[in-house]
Amino acid sequence: MLRKIKNIIPQEFHTRAFIVAITVLLRAILNFFGIAMLVPLLMLILDFEALQSNHIVRYVYDFLGCKSHSQFVIATALAIVGFIALKNMMNLWLYKYERNFTYDLYGNLSRRLFVDYYRRGLLFVSERNSTELSRNVNIVCLNFVIGVLKPAAAIVGEIIPFALIIVAIIFYDPTASLLLALTFVPAVWIYYSFVKERLLKYGAEENQAQREKFRNVAESFRGYTDVEISNAFPQIISSFNRATDRLVAMRKRDATLSTIPQGITETSLAAGMATLIIIGAFMPERKIGLVFGLFAVAAVRLLPSIRNILTSLTAIRYNLHTIDTLSDISNDKIEIDNSSERIHLHQQMEVRNISFRYTKNAQSVIEDFSLTIKQGERIGIRGASGAGKSTLMNLLLGLYAPDKGEILIDGIKLDQTTRRKWQNSVGYVPQSVFLLDSTLLENIALGVPSEKIDRERVMEVLKMASLTEFVERLPDGLNSSIGEAGCRVSGGERQRIGIARALYKRPDILFFDEATSSLDRTTEQSINSSIEELSRNNQNITIVAIAHRETSLEYCDRIINIEKL
Ligand code: ADP
Repeated sequence: MLRKIKNIIPQEFHTRAFIVAITVLLRAILNFFGIAMLVPLLMLILDFEALQSNHIVRYVYDFLGCKSHSQFVIATALAIVGFIALKNMMNLWLYKYERNFTYDLYGNLSRRLFVDYYRRGLLFVSERNSTELSRNVNIVCLNFVIGVLKPAAAIVGEIIPFALIIVAIIFYDPTASLLLALTFVPAVWIYYSFVKERLLKYGAEENQAQREKFRNVAESFRGYTDVEISNAFPQIISSFNRATDRLVAMRKRDATLSTIPQGITETSLAAGMATLIIIGAFMPERKIGLVFGLFAVAAVRLLPSIRNILTSLTAIRYNLHTIDTLSDISNDKIEIDNSSERIHLHQQMEVRNISFRYTKNAQSVIEDFSLTIKQGERIGIRGASGAGKSTLMNLLLGLYAPDKGEILIDGIKLDQTTRRKWQNSVGYVPQSVFLLDSTLLENIALGVPSEKIDRERVMEVLKMASLTEFVERLPDGLNSSIGEAGCRVSGGERQRIGIARALYKRPDILFFDEATSSLDRTTEQSINSSIEELSRNNQNITIVAIAHRETSLEYCDRIINIEKL
């Protein structure tokens, strides 16, 4: 498990993690001295004569020029208060380092996981639940840092002074230490073995319930119309309620388990004191006073320590599942290929004997497929639903890599290293164009920072996509909000926005993946004639259109049929 945690923490945080360990250690030592200082004070009050025989005490006594026992006690008390105040200030300062480390690490993990998921490609993303991925990126990372790393540091920070205090007490008075051990150890051990498995189970179950809740909420809003018309909401809400009940139950149980340590420690302390009183009946008075005092001082510090250790252990066990979610996070540097370089299509795109299957044991979706697309050609690819058209499209876009064969653009092989440059030359319009929750302007120039958007080009492509009238009708023109929370656009307008977006980057090749299939006949014909017109006016743009209806491909020079295997 420790190795897994180490792998999750990136290389550049290792030195900082080491420094955090040192600050935790320093804090622990300071805390030990904070409590250890109280012991001399106690002894000064209870056993002054014994102390006076100590030559260091004698020396300090003389050095301070104390005239009486009470003067010395006051001076020592003030010194101790001063030291503890200073110690706490230093503690705060040291703790700042740990806190900064924790939250910086959260930021790093969250960013890395996001990029890592993204980089794994379309196949990975399409096979996962998007709400779960987003929860992992935003919440699981935080739970790992706050629920595993922080309590782990707290345990180390508590255990060290704890051990030192115990050793000091053993050294000073074995009876008191034995008593402390006898009162706390069995109680702690019984508690931990009782909650260990439960916590793991509760944590995992809460995680499961959380996922379900996130999914229910996201699906209800995303698919509102379908959900409403199919009257699916009652079923969704009952699944949501079940998940919520489970989550609430787990939280309640976790909260109960977390409050038990306080009861245990206090009861143990009372039991210890009671034992002490009983034993005390057989001890000389001064001695019992001292042991009692020692016991109380130690307990003041040990009690919260034990409680803290137990609560931290509880938190770690509850959040242990986060380690598995994060343990396959890639340790590569976060590098996003944002080069604007292009591979231009001057002559032809060659698809040579490619094959592709989704999983090792599945049937090939594309088998030994070849095709040559000449520059400026308008090619239609037709096939029944499920024939593999979208799969082929994703291969041509470089989103999937073929298992066999290759795709060449003017002789340059399309692979991981050339993919970005090829995609920079490509315009793509899918069946249902994805709209950002943003302005029309930003939706057209997708990915371009708003200050760098070429508004003239936007107007140009809007005209090419026959959207000029649409923009004029919008309340704020190009700056009108469209997308999820903005103005609704019709199916035809949405597809035309997709075309304008594809054209904005002056592509060498335009890919249409069932771009008009979901539209009514008239809108489809109207969009197809726009595509034909723009192709006539821009002869150098190559077009590859995929559709299951031949009527959607009327403007193409050549139509290729692909059949279901
Ligand atoms: P088309 O676009 O022609 O309708 P697709 O390319 O979408 O066909 O799908 C071709 C076949 O591949 C179908 O049998 C489909 O079930 C399968 N398929 C598509 N996507 C995946 C995926 N992510 N994982 C597994 N199988 C898939």
